[in-house]
Order: sequence, then structure tokens, then C-alpha cells
Amino acid sequence: MDLLANLNPAQRLAVTSTEGPVMVMAGAGSGKTKVLTTRISYIIKELGIIPSKILAVTFTNKAAKEMKDRISSMLDINTSFMWVSTFHSFCARVLRMEIEAMPPYTKRFVIIDEEDSLKLVKDILKECELEYKPKEIKHLISKNKNFKNFSIKDPRLLDVFLLVNKKYEDRCKEENLLDFDDLIIKTIELFEKNPKILEYYQNQFEYILVDEFQDTNALQYDLMAMLAKKHKNLFVVGDDFQSIYSFRGAKIENINKFQEDYKDYKLILLEENYRSTTQILNLANNIIIKNPNQIKKVMFSNKKEGPLPKYYRAMSSYDETVFVINKILEGIRKGKDYKDFAIMYRANSISRSFEDQLVKNKIPYTIYGGLSFFARAEIKDMTAYLRLLVHKDDDYSFKRVINMPKRKIGAKILDSLNMIASEKGLPLYDAIEYYTGSGIGASNLKEFKKVLDDIREKMEDLPLPLILKELVDKTGYEEEIKKDEDTYLDRMDNIKEFSSVLKETEEEYEGITHFEMLENLLFDLSLRSEHDDSKSDESVRLTTFHQAKGLEFDTVFMVAMEESIFPGLNVESNQDMEEERRICYVGITRAKNELYLTNAENRMRFGTTEYMVPSRFIGEMDKELYQNVSRGAKTKSPVNQGYSIAKAKFTVKKEEPKEAPSVSYSIGDKINHKAFGDGLVVAVSGTTITVAFKAPFGVKQLNGNHPSIRKI
Ligand code: ATP
Ligand code: MG
Repeated sequence: MDLLANLNPAQRLAVTSTEGPVMVMAGAGSGKTKVLTTRISYIIKELGIIPSKILAVTFTNKAAKEMKDRISSMLDINTSFMWVSTFHSFCARVLRMEIEAMPPYTKRFVIIDEEDSLKLVKDILKECELEYKPKEIKHLISKNKNFKNFSIKDPRLLDVFLLVNKKYEDRCKEENLLDFDDLIIKTIELFEKNPKILEYYQNQFEYILVDEFQDTNALQYDLMAMLAKKHKNLFVVGDDFQSIYSFRGAKIENINKFQEDYKDYKLILLEENYRSTTQILNLANNIIIKNPNQIKKVMFSNKKEGPLPKYYRAMSSYDETVFVINKILEGIRKGKDYKDFAIMYRANSISRSFEDQLVKNKIPYTIYGGLSFFARAEIKDMTAYLRLLVHKDDDYSFKRVINMPKRKIGAKILDSLNMIASEKGLPLYDAIEYYTGSGIGASNLKEFKKVLDDIREKMEDLPLPLILKELVDKTGYEEEIKKDEDTYLDRMDNIKEFSSVLKETEEEYEGITHFEMLENLLFDLSLRSEHDDSKSDESVRLTTFHQAKGLEFDTVFMVAMEESIFPGLNVESNQDMEEERRICYVGITRAKNELYLTNAENRMRFGTTEYMVPSRFIGEMDKELYQNVSRGAKTKSPVNQGYSIAKAKFTVKKEEPKEAPSVSYSIGDKINHKAFGDGLVVAVSGTTITVAFKAPFGVKQLNGNHPSIRKI
């Protein structure tokens, strides 16, 4: 197979310029990822480089998996051991081998996810009797790790932060834990403190490739620069239009930095879009040019023409879901697959209403974002049990399951167990042997160990799914979750699903011991970010715009396009607004053939039905670039440009919609709202007013002409 056959000249150049630093800057769908994967294949096939000499990194596990799939379709090699992964997985893999150079950490470290890490902060705050929001402090801890010039102005908050941060670090060290941020930081620290180790990896990676370069943060940049120092074969691809991770410290300036750091770099631009129809691309270009600080570049499509994107303003969020589902069913009838459709939104909470309807209509779906399969309590419990089977010294997992199911093993017993463990230098699990107390808790403790010891003994004889079954049966776990009838079946379903993961693992790692298989699996699992799911690909995707990065779908629904959701309420600066607009651009450019923009007039939020103003992004789009398919007659008075577009299409209607008389507001006006009570107008923009209501309602953006509002 000729790797270069289907590429255009610029793409071909990017694939074959294998030596030295190269940057590809190009719009969505121009084939950047395709070029990157083809280049890997080219280096292996044409230059004869062995795969382990190549390092490729990207942002989501999903994207990494797609990369591997693309490579194996070109080369017919086993890609499972290649260094093609997310930044986090790469770091975890290095640390798994090298972390003992940084005591007290050991190879057996446990990677904790967001939820666990938040819980740790919560515990520390409680211990110190500090009344702060755990999320807020956790956010600061994370910011401190990711932003180089992080500072806290409030002296009291600073004190609290310093204290909790220190304790957090100590606890992680004591219990051999790393959070997601640590993975990158510790790897950099490792390399900085151990030049020999760094040198080893510099030699190892002759070719380094980075996808979605615009979203790397300063640390990730440093890491790649460190590794590329010897061979300097650093290939980065990105699109400044799609920079959407500044909240995680992503630095668009990395693009400039690259240009300064590698003066002799080669810049390659790709201008042709292979993904989307002209109609979709026009809309994308139309929105992104509204960003004043964006470098102007326009993409063109050579794909066939397609239908205009469609805009639907629904009466209610329910109506919105029905519209979307009907369009999906229509598509299926025309021969499309479920996986051709993606429903995208700005905020995770939006997925719920769609899920209900998808279930009712028996449409299979997969969610990216939200609570994923591997973040569910029962799966984490089972994972902890398996960890403890494999590594008796995993005190962290021990603590997770010691009272799950409830065994009446109280703080007193655990304290003495702790004492024994530290006196004898044993893990908690082994300390049970020496525990001499009596009573129900004590005998349950012994029983706990016995059950696990028994299963461990049989481990090599039992297929992996049966090991799981033993755990669920013999530890009394199933009995425990049965107590909650509402969730029991769901949870057991999840455990069954997990069982199939174990089965797959067995097939994947054939030829090694069960112990080793589990070790591999647990390592893989700890890196599943909260956004990955295990379900099959034959389903409709529900995803945030962020998680959809790099992916493409035949038909995309951008839903809940409403002010205060997208853009969100906490968008303060112009810079933030520009980032929101880029998110909109990312959403639009995921679509290959059909694009729908939808929103709802009324949406149930925080327990009340709110009137929702259409997203300003709808208003910003030239109206000839999309078709309004809203049910016109039901719409109310215009509130912004987006709205007046909706109105402009009503001319087909015989009756003019009745409009509420226009009321004008100014800052400082007092108003009354039927649902939220009295409030104060704090900002006015056209007919959109921002009103501060009393708690619990807070600040809301409303249509000033809405009948539920009156001036007082
Ligand atoms: P994004 O910025 O969204 O990540 P991208 O630049 O990485 O986009 P790809 O995902 O690599 O774009 O490519 C978009 C689509 O165009 C893919 O389906 C890819 O197979 C196709 N494509 C890219 N280049 C060509 C080409 N030369 N001929 C035919 N199809 C192509
Ligand atoms: Mg890409």
C-alpha cells in the first residue's frame, strides 16, 4: 500500500519531512491527524525505524485509540505496545518503571481520579476543622500544579491553601498516590533530578509527535521539549482556532514558543478541508471571524455540497429532545448508523434529558463526559478488590473496601491495625494476621482476609471473570448492594459489564499469568479518564464539545444553545468569550454532512422552569447560512439578533405572532418575576436583562419582555 497515494502535496510534505522540528498549523478537518498517523507509518515502513522509537501524544484516550487503529490499518502491526497515548498515560508508563528513583514512591503507586482526590481534600479539611469548599481548594491545588505563575491574593485563603496543600502532598506520599496532575509533574521532576534517566528516554524517542498542540500547557510543552532535545525530531500539529483548554493552563503561546525555540523549524499549512461540506464550513468560518484577536484564515472544502445547517428553537427542552430523536430516527430509516450521530453540548448536565428519550426510543448511546463507567462506585470497589488481590500492600484500596460491604470494622480496630502495621513495617492487609482483638468486627476482619487469601490462591486456575464473581459472592458485596432495590439491578449490570472487560483482557494478554494480566488491566484502568466509556461503537454519542475534539460525525446536533449555558454565565472577560466562540467552532467542524443547532425556550433548571434566551452565537451567524426550521407561530417577541432571524422566517405564517408590549429597562430598576420574586436589574443588553434575585435564585439573564416579568 502506498502510504502517500491519497495525500495532497502539502500533506505529503508533512509526512515525508521526517527530520528536524516541523509544525503543521491548519484548520479543522484538514487532515492533521491523518498526516500524523501516516507519518508514523511512514517512519516505520520507509525509514525502517522500530515502533518503540516513536512517541506520539494526544489528549483523550479515544483519540489515542483512533490513532492506533489508523496505524494498524496502514501497517498491519500490533500497535498495543506502541508509545501512542495521552500525555497522562505516557507519564504513568514512564513512572511505573522509574518512580523508585524518587522515594518514597514505589512502582505500585495508585493513580487517583478527580473524585478520590476531592475526597482526600474533603478529609483534610474536616481533620483541620476548616470550613471551606473542598472543590474550591482542590481547584487551587490543581491550579498551583499547572500554572507556573500561580498566586493567591487573599492572605487567609493563602494560609488555608498552604496548609491543605502540604497535607495533601504528604498524604499522597504516605499512601503512594498520584493524582492526574502529578503524573506530568512527577515525570518532569524525575527527568530533572535524574539526567541519566532522561538521557535514556531521549535516546529512545527518535521521533516525537504531538497532536492538538494548541491545547498543550506549559508543563506538557516542557516535557516534550526535554525529550526531543537530542534528536530534535519534534512534529507538532494544531489549530489555533481550536484552542479550548485555557482553563487547564493550555497555552496558545506554545505555538510562538515553538517557533522561538526551534528557529530552523519547518512550517506547513494545510488549507483544504476534507471533512465538512461547504455549507458547514461556511458557518464555521462565519462564527470564528467574530473573534477580534484571531488570526484570519479561511478554509475551503472540496467536498460535495450539502444541505444548509438547520436551526430549531423548541418550546421546551422536552420538545428539543423529541426533535433531535426524530431526526436520528429519520436518519436511521435512510440507512445511517447510530454511530453517525452525535449530540453535543456545553455542559454535562444537559445529557440527562436526552438520555431519557434515547432509552425510551431504544436508541443505543454512549456518553463521553459525566460519570463514566469506570468512575462508578461499584466498578471502583471491584477494581480496589482486584488491586488488593494483586498487591497486598495497597493500603489505599484496602481502606476503600474494608467496610464495603459493611463489616462493623470501626475506627478503633483500624487504629490498632495501623499501629501494628507501622510497628512491624507491614501493609494493613498483612497486619490483620497480628490483630488480637475480639468481637464481631474483629472476626469479620479475619474473615475478610481469609476470603481474599482463598481467592488469591485459586487465581491462576480461575478465568478472570470468575475471579470477579468470587469477589462479588464471597465478600458479601452483592448482598450489600441488594439492600438498595432502586440501584441494585443497575449496579449488577455494571458489574457484568466489567466482567466482559475482564474477559477481553484475558483474550488480549493471552500467554501470561492471571496475576500479570490483572496487573496490566489495573494499570490500564487507572488511566481511563473520567470521560472514557467501555461501550461499543455502535451507538449515538453524547458528548461535551471539549470531549469531541478531533472526532468527526456524519450528523451533529449542537443542543442547548442558550445564553447562560453556551456561553455560560461565568464567562467574564472578552478572552473567555473568544474561547467560548472557539468551542462553538469546534462543535460545528465536527460535522461532515449535516448540522443542527437547537435550543429551548423553556428549560427546567435547578428545580424551576426558566425562560432561555438563544445563544448569542446563533445571533452572530449570517442568516442566509442556515435554515430556520422552528415552529414559528409559537415563538415570542424578538430578544436578540438570533431571535429576529427566527421571526424573519415567519412570513409564511398567516397570523402574526402576538408580541408582548416592549418594556425598556435600565440598570437599577426593580422588577418582579413570577417564579423568582423581586430582583434588581444589573445589566441591560437590548431586550436581554441581567437580574440579581435573592438566594437561592441568584443572577439570571432573562428576556425583559417575558410576561412573567413586571417592573415594580
Ligand atoms: P481536527 O482539527 O478536527 O482534529 P484534522 O485536521 O485532524 O481535524 P483529520 O481528522 O485528520 O483532520 O481528517 C479529517 C477527515 O478528512 C478524515 O476523515 C480524513 O480521513 C479525511 N482526509 C484527510 N486528508 C484527506 C485526503 N488527502 N484525502 C481524502 N480524505 C482525507
Ligand atoms: Mg485531528
